[in-house]
Amino acid sequence: MLCPLCSIEARISKSTYVIRDNKLYIRFEYSCRNKECSNYDKVIGEEESEVEAIVEESKPSVPSEE
Ligand SMILES: [Zn+2]
Repeated sequence: MLCPLCSIEARISKSTYVIRDNKLYIRFEYSCRNKECSNYDKVIGEEESEVEAIVEESKPSVPSEE
């Protein structure tokens, strides 16, 4: 994902796990990493993808909000 203002590749600023319809999803929040940009450290986009398999060692701690 690119920043819409400066077209620099955005970085993932946050990742959270979401459970919906008994499926586990991971949601990424992207923010701009260009300090000169007015989008710096702001969330500029979100992406969700289904988690196919959970590796035993790195079980996510599921947030209680959902
Ligand atoms: Zn930017």
